[in-house]
Amino acid sequence: TWTKDADPSTSPHTKVPLVDGNLYNYGTSEKDNAQYPVCRREYPLIRLNHIPQSEGIKCEMLVKCEFFNPGGSVKDRIGYRMVEDAEKAGVLKEGSTIIEPTSGNTGIGLAMAAAVKGYRCIIVMPLKMSNEKVNYMNPGNPLAHYDNTGAEILQQCGGRLDMVIVGAGTGGTVTGIGRKIKELCPECKVISVDPVGSILALPESLNDTDVTFYELEGIGYDFLPTVLDRHVVDKWYKVTDKAAFTMAKRLIREEGLLCGGSAGAALATALKAAADLRSDQRCVVLLPDSIRNYLTKFVSDQWMEVRNLKPIKNIHNHWWWDK
Ligand code: PMP
Repeated sequence: TWTKDADPSTSPHTKVPLVDGNLYNYGTSEKDNAQYPVCRREYPLIRLNHIPQSEGIKCEMLVKCEFFNPGGSVKDRIGYRMVEDAEKAGVLKEGSTIIEPTSGNTGIGLAMAAAVKGYRCIIVMPLKMSNEKVNYMNPGNPLAHYDNTGAEILQQCGGRLDMVIVGAGTGGTVTGIGRKIKELCPECKVISVDPVGSILALPESLNDTDVTFYELEGIGYDFLPTVLDRHVVDKWYKVTDKAAFTMAKRLIREEGLLCGGSAGAALATALKAAADLRSDQRCVVLLPDSIRNYLTKFVSDQWMEVRNLKPIKNIHNHWWWDK
């Protein structure tokens, strides 16, 4: 997929392999497939078979596994897109160096795109958030998800989708996916999640709290990123560290999906948002990154225990946390 001159309009329409009958091809029919543009990269939608059922969810719940991206996160898509856009605009030329202030997955995505395309890449850890804000004006961020991730989800669902759950950090993912879905599948509800202690959710009253710190990484901010369109979201939910990490651990343990903490936040939200969906309806939850970044963090029981985040089971052997 990471070829230098791949063209989305001509690239081969590779099928997603079926594994254990759980992975989806794109559209359910050739007609569905023809309806949506061919995407360059496709990562599987996997049906959850345990957690939603154990929590009384009736609809079909699928997860979009962005941790399958080669760099391990949803941010690979924007790294590649931003580099391509900068090339088209003439900003990046042979011999150029890309410099990005980021402490997160975006740096990995950009470094990979730079490696493939032959640019030098310097990733710096920002001392001040204001450095990062500048980069969050990059329109390639939501556009990568509008053109690719959003179209891909619809394609894989054959256009039949009732709800999508996407967490917000810069907001590029939810803005891009949300706009594409609202255009092609207007009845579908777009849901987002923001950590308690962050200020991205609407209505603003949802953000009222004494909490000033959260451990969750990748979602939430203390300013409004310019690429985030908060109004593309039909309903916002707040999530605590404990709820998010408990659910991430459950995804790992019960579904075998080696995801990160923001994936747990999205699924914890999905279990609330999709509670009233019927059995003939479908909900897609985006899992942004993999366990790799968190082996010494929430994956460690000791780390969870020290922070009083360890989930427990109640007397009925059901998971209990501050849902
Ligand atoms: N989860 C993780 C782990 C991330 O790194 C990010 C990127 N900040 C997100 C979720 C949210 O993506 P976005 O910035 O597009 O809102």
